[in-house]
Amino acid sequence: MVTTWVRHLRASASRFAAAALVALFAVGCATSGVNKGDFNLVSLQEEWQLGQQLERDIARQMDILRDPQTVSYVNRIGQRIVNQTELAEAPWEFHVVADPSLNAFNVPGGHVYVHTGLICATDNVSELTGVMAHEIAHGVSRHGTEQLSKAYGANIVAGLLLGANPPIYQQLLTQVVAGGTFAKFSRDAEREADHLGVVYMYNAGFDPHGMVTMFQELLQRRERDPGAVEQFFSSHPLTQERIENVRQQIDQLPPRQGLVARDAEFQRVQSRVDRYCR
Ligand code: ZN
Repeated sequence: MVTTWVRHLRASASRFAAAALVALFAVGCATSGVNKGDFNLVSLQEEWQLGQQLERDIARQMDILRDPQTVSYVNRIGQRIVNQTELAEAPWEFHVVADPSLNAFNVPGGHVYVHTGLICATDNVSELTGVMAHEIAHGVSRHGTEQLSKAYGANIVAGLLLGANPPIYQQLLTQVVAGGTFAKFSRDAEREADHLGVVYMYNAGFDPHGMVTMFQELLQRRERDPGAVEQFFSSHPLTQERIENVRQQIDQLPPRQGLVARDAEFQRVQSRVDRYCR
């Protein structure tokens, strides 16, 4: 299994490197004053290997939902978004966590986790896709790895893979398992993930307004039931300003017929996970 995707990764390594450079250049332009030099040294292959290691340990400690219909649905949405990104060739995986809180998070190396609570709280497929596209954008922009490198230096990922830093690895794992978050993102990282997420959604044929209505819902939930959205807000600072920015970006997109906001399968999946939302 491991060798298969490593080979796959090696086969498309040059394309990856080019894509990564483009992505890094874009990030570099958007966030002035951040030294990206060290971060450049972390290879995508290392990042994907770390992701696989974390995924294995997360599966042992979190309640990962195995319902084939639900998992397949979330994977199809995720893959449709991923296909619009520079890392479309990479092996991404989408996981559903049986947890009633409204949360989703990204772990470096192509792993996106969606809580059942989020699926229950969304009104339609475009709202669910809005949150997933935002998480995928964090992954494509490598925001989690960037933070790791800033905190511990460029060799940290290689070190973690070699088992050189058990306390740091354990801390990351605990953050994910107990806190539902891999990293606390900066406002710049959030802005970038929103912006890219809208582009991915639109290009994949989903109505990007779903991101706006879901963000509104998350803000409203914070008023009504702060505990249910605490994990999401701890890693993604969400503000009315961000929502306005997304709205303005969508207003400037060329009109496009047939963008998907609803589908029948979404309702079926929602009722399948309903018992994990209470
Ligand atoms: Zn975010």
